[in-house]
Amino acid sequence: MKVLKFGGTSVGSADKIKNVAKIINDDEEKIVVLSAMSGTTNKLEEIATLFLNGKKEEAVVQIELLKKNYYQVVKELFKSDEYQIKGQELIKQHFDNLLSFTKDVFTRYEERAVLAQGELLSTALLQFYLEEQKIKSTIIPALNFMRIDKSLEPDEYYIRENLKRELAQYPNIKLFITQGYICRNAFGEIDNLKRGGSDFTASLIGAELGADEIQIWTDIDGFHNNDPRFVEKTFPIHELSFDEAAELAYFGAKILHPSSVLPAKNKNIPVRLKNTMQPDAPGTLITENEVEEEGEIKAVAAKDGITAVKIKSGRMLLAYGFLRRVFEVFERYKTPIDMITTSEIAVSVTIDNPQYLPEIKKELESYASVEIDRNQSIICVVGNLIAEGKGIALKVINALEDIPLRMISYGGSKHNISVLINAEDKIKALNELNNKLFKFD
Ligand code: ADP
Ligand code: ASP
Ligand code: MG
Repeated sequence: MKVLKFGGTSVGSADKIKNVAKIINDDEEKIVVLSAMSGTTNKLEEIATLFLNGKKEEAVVQIELLKKNYYQVVKELFKSDEYQIKGQELIKQHFDNLLSFTKDVFTRYEERAVLAQGELLSTALLQFYLEEQKIKSTIIPALNFMRIDKSLEPDEYYIRENLKRELAQYPNIKLFITQGYICRNAFGEIDNLKRGGSDFTASLIGAELGADEIQIWTDIDGFHNNDPRFVEKTFPIHELSFDEAAELAYFGAKILHPSSVLPAKNKNIPVRLKNTMQPDAPGTLITENEVEEEGEIKAVAAKDGITAVKIKSGRMLLAYGFLRRVFEVFERYKTPIDMITTSEIAVSVTIDNPQYLPEIKKELESYASVEIDRNQSIICVVGNLIAEGKGIALKVINALEDIPLRMISYGGSKHNISVLINAEDKIKALNELNNKLFKFD
């Protein structure tokens, strides 16, 4: 059994949906996880925000525009009158549902129900297309098995048991379709795994079923050495270890959802990144193997929206217990720390969720002085880096000689050197690292 996830651009038009059908139509047993058609979740977010702000009329205009696009997709996707009608009914039903929110009080609960429509639509359209093509398949609804607990972590036992129960209902089916991203929460409400979460869905399903492989199909030929949105000359990396992929995904490589590596790593299930437009390209294989030469730099990624917190006290390192007191404050406010650097009199940490920053600052100020820098970016360099004094750190720092560095973190793991810079220097930093750390043929 394999799990294949297709992202938004891979199902972004009628032709692309047909292309996915072609890729998945072999005799192998598989679960296909779909995202919403590209642009849909952004649009639904916009609609939900309009509702939340009481701008119902504007929300209706946006809903009607999106509906029109979906009718066009139906027109292009199905050949027969029967499936044209089925497709139109499907669109009407989902958009009537969206329009019905004009009547109710609109809360965060309704917002999540709105956001879920994209994946419900894309999977239903693919299922109808497969039916029309006489390809045997069935939908297993993610809302019947995908669930997060009170800490917003996947409820693994629930997912495993319910997924197995869903699959057991169809002993003669080899091709299953399900929604990425959407789930239920601890209260049984519709919820989601955060933006880009379909990768996480695929990884969780793969891990709970002990799949042979998890494939992430997207619009690029695998994991590149640098962020192609900001750097012109990048190239695909053929192999990565779970740890390297996890660092890169966490530190901003959009190709993978930050949480999606861990479930696969825990169950040692290979993850393959593939390009829907070039199915024969090798892509990237992520496994537990660490294949690189010592000292090899593999890739660079950047994470935005970082806040640095500098906590200064008269005596820190000799005063044992100081760091514990600092970290306890962040723990109390459920705020993860990404980077840490220390000196005798101060410790700097970075966070990417500033929600409780005022409270955290207030508590820290009872025993230290606190400085906050917003709009920072972490640049993360990944590879097998700690190789007996081979000067890798020097290369990285030299490449960034014209950019002010706010923090440097080296040695936390052998895979990662991270630096903190002003967000406005990010693109320059990514390009400098690309030019100075990688060889191009
Ligand atoms: P999907 O909709 O299929 O989930 P995403 O847009 O989430 O696709 O992820 C694919 C995109 O990630 C690529 O088009 C690329 O612009 C971006 N990306 C950022 N960093 C990298 C990287 N290191 N390697 C490949 N793609 C990257
Ligand atoms: N449709 C969701 C999003 O746009 C989930 C995903 O694409 O992975 O974030
Ligand atoms: Mg994605």
